[in-house]
Amino acid sequence: MGHKKGQIPWNLGKKMGEHTKEHNIKIGEGVKKTFEEFPEIKEKMKERIKEKAGNWKGGIIRFPSIAMKRRVFERDNYECQDCGLKIDLDCHHLDPKGLTVDENLVSLCPNCHRLRHRKVA
Ligand SMILES: [Zn+2]
Ligand SMILES: [Zn+2]
Repeated sequence: MGHKKGQIPWNLGKKMGEHTKEHNIKIGEGVKKTFEEFPEIKEKMKERIKEKAGNWKGGIIRFPSIAMKRRVFERDNYECQDCGLKIDLDCHHLDPKGLTVDENLVSLCPNCHRLRHRKVA
């Protein structure tokens, strides 16, 4: 076992923070492995993606900006408009086909948000 020739450092010639295609593929493989080991994480992710896809019906909905979310939360007293919880609020489109404007957004906790999407579907 001779290491005399010297091992090439893994990051040789790579700039810090450089994201090569190869590097991104490696990240993807890591995610796959995580999904294999923790199927419940995969299910959760799937649910989230489905939820997001629901918001894209018609292709006109864009996600509200952070500033817009803050305005909506402020208007709604930082409370879930269905149950009054004040945690982890999200913006929900009242009219899923409508525009992403303050008037069409409502603050909901993740739980009520999920319920609303279930009712519509
Ligand atoms: Zn709620
Ligand atoms: Zn929603």
